[in-house]
Amino acid sequence: MRQQPDGSSLSDPCPSADPAARRFTREWVAALADGGVLARGECRAVERLMPLATALAELLAEPVRRPQAARALGAALVDAGFRGPGSLQASLRLIRGRAPELLEVAADVGEDGACADRMHRIGEVLGEITAGYGERLRELSEFEQERAFGSVERTRRVAEAALRASEERFRTVFTQAGVGIGIANLTGLPVEVNPALVRMFGAAGLTNEPRPITDHVHPGDAPKFIAEFVDLARGQCEFFRREVRFVRPDGTVLWTHLGVSLVRTDDGEPSYVIGVIEDITERHQLRRRLHHQAYHDQLTRLPNRTLMEEQLRMVFSTGSSTRRVGLCHLDLDHFRAINDSLGHHVGDQLLLAVAGRVQLLAGEHLVTRTGGDQFAILVPDPPGVDHLRELAERILVGLRAPFVIGHQRLAITASLGIAERAVNETWPGELQRAADAARTWAKAEGGGRWVVFDPERDAGETIRFTLAASVPGAVDRDEFHLCYQPLVELDDGGLAGVEALVRWRHPDYGLLGPARFIDLAERNGSIVPLGRWVLTEACRQAREWADRYGSAAPYVSVNVAPRQLAEPGWLAEVSDVLAASGLEPGQLQLEITERAVLVDEHGASDVLRTLRDMGVRLTIDDFGTGYSSLSYLRRLPVHGLKIDGSFIRGLGESDKADTPDGKIVASLISMAHALDLTVTAEWVETAAQARRLTALGCDLGQGNWFGDPVPAAQLDLRLGHPLAG
Ligand code: C2E
Ligand code: MG
Ligand code: MG
Repeated sequence: MRQQPDGSSLSDPCPSADPAARRFTREWVAALADGGVLARGECRAVERLMPLATALAELLAEPVRRPQAARALGAALVDAGFRGPGSLQASLRLIRGRAPELLEVAADVGEDGACADRMHRIGEVLGEITAGYGERLRELSEFEQERAFGSVERTRRVAEAALRASEERFRTVFTQAGVGIGIANLTGLPVEVNPALVRMFGAAGLTNEPRPITDHVHPGDAPKFIAEFVDLARGQCEFFRREVRFVRPDGTVLWTHLGVSLVRTDDGEPSYVIGVIEDITERHQLRRRLHHQAYHDQLTRLPNRTLMEEQLRMVFSTGSSTRRVGLCHLDLDHFRAINDSLGHHVGDQLLLAVAGRVQLLAGEHLVTRTGGDQFAILVPDPPGVDHLRELAERILVGLRAPFVIGHQRLAITASLGIAERAVNETWPGELQRAADAARTWAKAEGGGRWVVFDPERDAGETIRFTLAASVPGAVDRDEFHLCYQPLVELDDGGLAGVEALVRWRHPDYGLLGPARFIDLAERNGSIVPLGRWVLTEACRQAREWADRYGSAAPYVSVNVAPRQLAEPGWLAEVSDVLAASGLEPGQLQLEITERAVLVDEHGASDVLRTLRDMGVRLTIDDFGTGYSSLSYLRRLPVHGLKIDGSFIRGLGESDKADTPDGKIVASLISMAHALDLTVTAEWVETAAQARRLTALGCDLGQGNWFGDPVPAAQLDLRLGHPLAG
């Protein structure tokens, strides 16, 4: 092993306390400082040179020549760090000058006085020191060089290993990557493709008889892809990314997400391209399936409402502003009954069959399923509304043929609403609303028909809806008042009671009769607060009459909507109102409809029984228009019935009961009397009708003949006077 230049030969210098050696050491330090080798006052130099000075003294003191030791001294000077050009020179000069003195010192230590050749030895020692110094410097420089070389070598080896590792990593990525990686030249010809890419294109896809990658691109995507590839190959862009379809050799389409990068030479020239290709065929198919699901109905496979609305928006946004568009909304009649009675499975089968038939009947027009049993047919650019009428009629007729589901033959009808407008007159949502409104009218008219949307009718209904919605506010603002219509004893013309009929003094629409708002108020529930107000006001008024006219005062007859009867707190409300007004219960009559008591879902008959027990009169209003079931009359705790005005009209002018309505009225009266019920005839408009009814034994009459509904103030005058004409 190479000896390290660590001064091991002087590893144990004599730490001589010899004053001469010390002095020599200080002079040595000074000499080196004079020679510019040492900074003055460099204290550690004494430490470094002291062993050398001692060794030198010993060397000179020995009689035996020791050239090796002198060389070692030279080497030790290098090892002590004195390597500059002036170090040796200054040291030699000092040793030469001070050697005689040192020799004296040594002589003191030495054994005899053999000093004759000491001066000669000084020369030899200086020569050896010089040689040792030079040798050590050379060794040192060789060592440094070697060390430097070694580190270069190691660096090179590390770099090579890193390169190898990086190439291996790249190889691993290239061969094992799930994505396809391909390297192509600037004409797009594949140079190398990884296994994943081979798998994507099929075994022979890209490698057999290689063709430029652009040849494999789907024709639909080729122009754009080629343009981008050319830009890249020319160095006009560095990278592009896009979804591209490729066509495999077997003709199937491969959906990919592709990123292509340009690789340049060291001097910046385009060299080749690398493409990373991800197979997204499955994702794409899933996307298509989801897209289809989002726009189609699962059961019938027809397009759904979303798709229809998109198409509708498209019709509105394209073409001229005078373009027309037609929409037909179809709703199956009583479909729920089929579902409920035959089960949802049969219902589904029927819907499927209806969807197929409607699609056939609608021809080229878009048919969509918009809801449970609802379909819509979109007709862009219809030649006129007649075209839609014909289409609707064709569908109605076509649906008439029974559907065979399993072993059953099912007949079904539909209600169709038609809306046809110019696109600049309306907007998609409004057109749909119009078709819907028309469909509702068709249904309300009994179904099995089509109705064309009528803006005027719609405006009327819109007002009704708006009115109904504002009923509670109007109650608070005191916009309602009551009119009273006499209920007259037919035998003597005496005033038995009055019916309270509500009126609305509307700030915008003027005086409104109940036909304008009662139905909708019942549907939206606002009949409840309105009914409360009517009852309170009617009872207050009746109590006033009772106070004024005593036993001659008429009872007040108040209409009660089915919804009120179904309200849980209504019964308590009636007793509260009676109590608050102080009106005798016998002075209040409540008019209820057949519907309310027949559909006794909310225990209406119990409520009525309680009311009867309280002494309140109860009568069935508009009898004959509903179910007219005589058997239920027997069970009901009512006092009477009011024969609907339409039968009274049918009595005609004749005094004889020879019209059909006359016969009905006659039998109704006798039947009611058999059940001990009081009979009131509505809409008595003529003296003949009044006479006829009297002859038939009808108890009471109400109608224009006896008096119109009027405010209480006008009615007062007639109280207590016979009114029969
Ligand atoms: P209704 O209870 O059968 O009231 C009788 C209706 O017949 C009244 O119409 C009355 O003005 C009308 N009438 C009276 N005499 C004749 C006549 O000789 N010929 C003809 N053609 N009609 C006559 P009105 O006041 O328009 O009330 C209509 C309906 O509105 C009422 O029918 C009743 O069902 C309902 N209604 C009125 N006020 C109220 C109320 O306060 N609450 C509830 N729930 N319904 C009410
Ligand atoms: Mg009534
Ligand atoms: Mg009535």
